[in-house]
Amino acid sequence: MAVFGSDLEILPEKIYENFYHLTRNNIILKYMFYKRNSIQLPNAVSSDDSERVVVFVLTDALRPDHLHINGYSRQTTPNMEKNNFLSFKEMYACETVTTRSVPCLLTDMRRRDERYKFLDEYSVFNVFKAAGYYTSFISAQTAITTADYGQQIIAGDADYVFFNNDYSIRYDKELLKYFDNVMAHDSKNKLIVMQLNGSHWDYNTRFNHDEALWKPLCGNFALDCPAEHLTNSYDNTIVETDKLLNSIVEKLKDKNAIIFFSSDHGQSLGEGGLRLHSHGRLHIKEVGVVPFAVWFSDKAKTYTNLDIVSNNLNKIITHDSIFHSMIGCANIKTDVLDDSLNICSSRLISVPNEYKNYKAKPVQ
Ligand SMILES: [Zn+2]
Repeated sequence: MAVFGSDLEILPEKIYENFYHLTRNNIILKYMFYKRNSIQLPNAVSSDDSERVVVFVLTDALRPDHLHINGYSRQTTPNMEKNNFLSFKEMYACETVTTRSVPCLLTDMRRRDERYKFLDEYSVFNVFKAAGYYTSFISAQTAITTADYGQQIIAGDADYVFFNNDYSIRYDKELLKYFDNVMAHDSKNKLIVMQLNGSHWDYNTRFNHDEALWKPLCGNFALDCPAEHLTNSYDNTIVETDKLLNSIVEKLKDKNAIIFFSSDHGQSLGEGGLRLHSHGRLHIKEVGVVPFAVWFSDKAKTYTNLDIVSNNLNKIITHDSIFHSMIGCANIKTDVLDDSLNICSSRLISVPNEYKNYKAKPVQ
């Protein structure tokens, strides 16, 4: 979300400075759209003639150690467990702000590439479109702030794009009507990327307080409530995301469908005195590590070697694996696919442990 990534300040005395930034960012945006328009589709084909739906649910600011499915003490993920999501042990984020990590993880840009490398790389939309899919990007976030242009550019590769620019979406679950619209499209194969507000601050706006499982909640200011109240609010957001995943499973369980689930970055909840997230915190494990899980419908299992995926669960992977796993697990044949990053391949390589000597500091 833009709130913490914006380089604009809404102060009257900043009006000239803001005008400068808006003008500059608009020029950058136009240049990037122009540059992106010249990208050609790669060669890609579906290697079977099944009817398939591939969904990627991209939440925001969710850290994996707060998922019960990963061993967290609170039951935050009953539906992921009931539906047998396969959860990976560790995935490293491209970056620690939405603006930078989303374009990276939706394209063949690699985690250590320079910031704008995504402009020259294929996106999942390019590859799936080339393989005959109807492609869509639906987001509960807005694209009207100047700082979020990276994800606007990449979302623009899709056939259908929805951003919550009119703020008509209050809760993430309201995105399901756009999901249904895409599902009603008459194309045989569909790709749906859903971007949530998920666990992004302000946590308390993400769930109905009457249904909150953990109280008391944090007040209006993330930086001065007691850490346990902050965690209560945060954990309640995860329950909402878990319910949304269940709704999507219900819609897809009789189809040949795969759901990928991850987050753009993690979140500090008071460790070392830090809260929330911002650019440049990749060395901090709470922010630099994200969840990654995948679900296969019964029909999809007939096209997938689940033993291979299960054997890969303990490997350490990065956001770079999302692009290649979506393509690889959907059985799309293309030169773009790198099996060393594909969770559906026995050739998946585990990356070195970057947080081996990381010691979480006390929560403050
Ligand atoms: Zn984010």
